[in-house]
Amino acid sequence: RPALFWFRDDLRLSDNPALRAASEHGPLTCVYILDTSTERRALGGAARWWLSRSLQALSDAIAAKGGELLILRGDPAELLPDVVERTGSGYVAWNRRYDRAAIALDKALKAELTEAGVAVESFNANLLNEPWQVKTKADGPFKVFTPYWRAVRESGEPSAPLPAPARLSRARLPAALREQTLTVAGLALEPTTPDWAGGLREAWTPGEDGARDRLDTFLDETIAGYREARDLPDRLSTSRLSPHLRFGEISPRQIWHATRAAEEAGRTPGSASDVEKFFSEIGWREFSYHLLFHNPELASVNYDRRFDAMSWETDEAGLAAWQKGLTGYPIVDAGLRELWQTGWMHNRVRMITASFLIKHLLTDWRAGETWFWDTLVDADPANNPASWQWVAGSGADAAPYFRVFNPVTQGEKFDPKGAYVRRFVPELAELDDKFIHRPWDAPAGELKKSGILLGSDYPKPIIALDFGRQRALDAFAALRSE
Ligand code: FAD
Repeated sequence: RPALFWFRDDLRLSDNPALRAASEHGPLTCVYILDTSTERRALGGAARWWLSRSLQALSDAIAAKGGELLILRGDPAELLPDVVERTGSGYVAWNRRYDRAAIALDKALKAELTEAGVAVESFNANLLNEPWQVKTKADGPFKVFTPYWRAVRESGEPSAPLPAPARLSRARLPAALREQTLTVAGLALEPTTPDWAGGLREAWTPGEDGARDRLDTFLDETIAGYREARDLPDRLSTSRLSPHLRFGEISPRQIWHATRAAEEAGRTPGSASDVEKFFSEIGWREFSYHLLFHNPELASVNYDRRFDAMSWETDEAGLAAWQKGLTGYPIVDAGLRELWQTGWMHNRVRMITASFLIKHLLTDWRAGETWFWDTLVDADPANNPASWQWVAGSGADAAPYFRVFNPVTQGEKFDPKGAYVRRFVPELAELDDKFIHRPWDAPAGELKKSGILLGSDYPKPIIALDFGRQRALDAFAALRSE
């Protein structure tokens, strides 16, 4: 009997264990279902754009190997068993996902299909370790990154990635099913009016080949000095693999082994500590998934329940100014505009902007998480909530609550010449380096010379830093004494 493979967050042909297993069963149906059920969190706008491009690349790659990608839209709980039945598939495989709603769906489907006499197998494709495999000495989940990662590293190197199937033989599709299938364009995932995706198109090449190119560029040009330079937002200082990882166009195993191979071939001029630092960032992603699996409400409930009593402000004007990059703090505004234009933001600036929203504006971290979910091309069910909770201080392994990033000193430290600010906040481009992170301190003559009317061309700060910081410290201190 034919086999069926269900693509989800694993939009690649190589190192795809479930695809490989299904392809070895004989004629194959490959299916992608755009999930419209309200049971599961819908993708944000930027992620939908990415998905559209990635599915097109995948569909082309499958066709080049003789196969075909069947694209459907609806609730997989109903569609998948229907497709399995209509194609007469006797074997179904997929790679695991780790958020609660997806796990519940997969469990229900596995039970239903097995009951109907279909063999179902699931695999790990997207993590180095399953979240339940890494355990403390007391046999429980980890709450702190450093010992978690030490345990992972002590367990040795990850296994080697799998090659892509040489060919994908096509199962026969009943005509009625063929009529039901959509093209990628038919999913209408990309914006039209207004078309806000121009900056995204310029910045990214979604798909497996794009991911591989990104990794090669990183290994050739950027990994050298990564340990130090990764905090600098004005240059290509990190891999920018995050959206490719999010959609499974590349696996952490592939990244790991390609990095090791480059290191052994002497191709990476980076030192061992650059490589180890890069691996530990991949480790943070693993740790986020570990947290998500053991705390399924990570995106909506405080990991540290004391934060339930937090007296957040409802500052809608402040939140709107933050979203638009109009807070009057240049590094914060540059970050949010980078996000809006390119669908991505540098990690250091993610921390600064998140801290500003949560601490200076005393806004619930969930509002920021929701905004990032809609605007990031790498919006990730584990990394996004885990990182927001980490900055808030409500997460596992929390940054201490009294750590309030000062956007001026952070800007001066990590963007000393203001190159990053000038790129994304062009109205400040002519300002002297000395004032680029605090235009309000510039003498009137300097502002005039730079063609800036504060409060008109660029906003005055929406909140005084001292006031915001003290208010946050008081609110957090009240929480701790409860
Ligand atoms: P590199 O430095 O090249 O790292 C390689 C890979 O390691 C990344 O692609 C990513 O998968 C992983 N990684 C790196 N840093 C982290 C980290 N701090 N936590 C978890 N994984 C990490 N990352 C997402 O992938 N999706 C998100 O939705 C997301 N939301 C975030 C929200 C906030 C408030 C913060 C502070 C961080 C968030 N991050 C998120 C983590 C991090 O900022 C990005 O993973 C990183 O900037 C991606 O850039 P890169 O691929 O060039 O990273």
